[in-house]
Amino acid sequence: MTRRQKKRMLVLAGSLTVVICVGMLIGTVYAQTMEQEQQEEAAVQEIVLPDVLEEYTADKTAENTKEALTQDTEEKEENLPEDWNLILVNRTHPIPEDYEVELKNIGSGHKIDARAYDDFRAMIQAAKREGVYIYVTSSYRDLDKQTELYNKKVESYVMQGYSYESAREQAGQVVAVPGTSEHHLGLALDLVSSEYRKLDEKQENTKGFQWLEEHSWEYGFILRYPNGETDITGIIYEPWHFRYVGLEAAKEITEAGLTLEEYVGAKPVSEGLEELEAQEKEKEQSSYLSDSTEEDTYHTYESNALGQTEGV
Ligand SMILES: [Zn+2]
Repeated sequence: MTRRQKKRMLVLAGSLTVVICVGMLIGTVYAQTMEQEQQEEAAVQEIVLPDVLEEYTADKTAENTKEALTQDTEEKEENLPEDWNLILVNRTHPIPEDYEVELKNIGSGHKIDARAYDDFRAMIQAAKREGVYIYVTSSYRDLDKQTELYNKKVESYVMQGYSYESAREQAGQVVAVPGTSEHHLGLALDLVSSEYRKLDEKQENTKGFQWLEEHSWEYGFILRYPNGETDITGIIYEPWHFRYVGLEAAKEITEAGLTLEEYVGAKPVSEGLEELEAQEKEKEQSSYLSDSTEEDTYHTYESNALGQTEGV
């Protein structure tokens, strides 16, 4: 290689280095610019997004609040207390299918929820000490027993010439539809006085009823179906049907003159039945449209919805 050639090589290498260096420099600057742009863009987004988000969040919050409020009113029925002594069973609140209770004998084949046993004994003894003799005519009733009573009633109407549908309607007015009787809980008792043992309104004139009216709350019991409260309880006046709710609730309910429905915050039964009826009608109409028959469901309800049921 000549000196001249060497020189040319050096110049070439030098030029290449310069080109590479410049290239790298440009690359770096470009990258920095990009980064900066991205940062700026992000900053812009940071400025814009919060506004949009805030608005969105505000909207969502309003929506949620509205939803929560609506749910609150609608779900009022579903938020009933779960305490064993306050469980509500009525025509619009059937007993939970898996309901289990430990029973204790109170004599003559009658049984009561074991947790109410002591208070019940104390009440009967206290009355006795004052010369008032109270008898139990009905206590815990299992679902089968109620179904049997109800079916028998339906059958008797059919025998009298009623159609099956109207026989069910009639039966529903006299015997509580299975699952809707408070007696399934083991917390309800039908109590009569020694001098008059019929389950009718005259029971209220007995010594037994008068004693219970004054003192039953002291032992955790309330008169469950007071006079003039049928719209709320769904049951006629029953001056014999008492329900154990525990000492505290019995005191509060009695002092405030409430029904159990009002105390636990449930809708009046009449209102619940109207809603059910509307729902069923709607269902019936849509079933006509969809060409499927839900007649059975409808009629089952219909027989439940009738007039006033004697809970007994
Ligand atoms: Zn009863």
